[in-house]
Amino acid sequence: MWRTIAVHRFSLTLTLTRGIFILTYHTGNLVKISELEGKVIGLYFSANWYPPCRNFNQLLVDVYEQLKSNGSNFEIVFVSSDEGLDAFNNYRQTMPWLSVPFSDLETKKSLNRKFEVEGIPCLIILQPEDNKDGTATFYDGVEMIYRYGVDAFPFTKDKFEQLQREEKMRHERQTLANLLTNPGRDYILDHSITRKVPVESLVGKTIGLYFSGQWCVPCVKFTPKLISIYRRIKQTLEEKGGEDFEIVFVSNDRDQTSFDSYFGTMPWLALPFEDPNIKTLAKYFDVQGIPCLIIIGPDGKTVTKQGRYLINLYQENAYPFTDAKVELIEKELDEAAKSLPRSELHEGHRHELTLVSEGTGGGPFICCDCDEQGSGWAYQCLECGYEVHTKCVRAVAPGSVEGR
Ligand SMILES: [Zn+2]
Ligand SMILES: [Zn+2]
Repeated sequence: MWRTIAVHRFSLTLTLTRGIFILTYHTGNLVKISELEGKVIGLYFSANWYPPCRNFNQLLVDVYEQLKSNGSNFEIVFVSSDEGLDAFNNYRQTMPWLSVPFSDLETKKSLNRKFEVEGIPCLIILQPEDNKDGTATFYDGVEMIYRYGVDAFPFTKDKFEQLQREEKMRHERQTLANLLTNPGRDYILDHSITRKVPVESLVGKTIGLYFSGQWCVPCVKFTPKLISIYRRIKQTLEEKGGEDFEIVFVSNDRDQTSFDSYFGTMPWLALPFEDPNIKTLAKYFDVQGIPCLIIIGPDGKTVTKQGRYLINLYQENAYPFTDAKVELIEKELDEAAKSLPRSELHEGHRHELTLVSEGTGGGPFICCDCDEQGSGWAYQCLECGYEVHTKCVRAVAPGSVEGR
């Protein structure tokens, strides 16, 4: 067997005592550590059984393959937390990079200890020049890859800080036009015959960017609700005059047919199917799940990324989604809560529910009646944790609840 060959990389000589990796994908060949010399190395702590690892893994494979194809000096070494050899081997099939052998417990343990790995997935980036003290080691490779992908190479601290500065500047310079148009397109789609609305005509309005897809069950559930709230907001604004609100569908649909049928149900506008801006926007706003509603103010700047949450909490009252508006609503809710009964019997639950708020045992919750998020005032079962929005309580008389 090979022993460690003098590698100037401090951390590797210290920890990879055997100096052996196995090649994934094809034959399981052994590779000498010396072959990694001079490369940027990602030590990838992960396990097949854990869904967040599997999600990240797919993204990491994409980034790795792009870097490999453009000749970047990068390698990944998988350090498995799988429970057995079969799980390890199956997981390794999805990885085009190297692994510490599953049987090499000593190396896996010492790597986990050295880098104080507390949660997975974890990606530790080692730089070739990181020789003695480890100061160039970057511990948050997972976040860097999620946020910047292949652009973050060579994954140094400096590069990360530079990308963060650039991102901040982009957000400061943000306008509706640079979000929604590109050199080949200055319009978005509506339902008219020409189907084209100039982005220019939306300037000065409050805009909701609605990231959604027809294959996604929570999206299909949220859309009809958003439609009715959208209509109510539009109606109120029409009566008042002056301000205007619009939503732009940013589609995550998988084919043109689903896009057409889904967009067909929506009374608002859309970016074209598979438009290049869609990916850019999702990355720019760091959209990690759909449905997602990002609110852009009349000045073209981001008001909130929590549009969906605010819609669920406050319906049409959430408009225009600003902090000032949310504060105002909360004050009103505090006022209204004063007249609510301290406890209620609810048609859908057999125990008595108690009125709670942030200060008295409440907090963010999922309503057991309508399945949507909530926070602040709520009715909670102190016995089993069942919790509903105050608006969702269907009060019943004592004695009519089963089991009481
Ligand atoms: Zn509810
Ligand atoms: Zn209960």
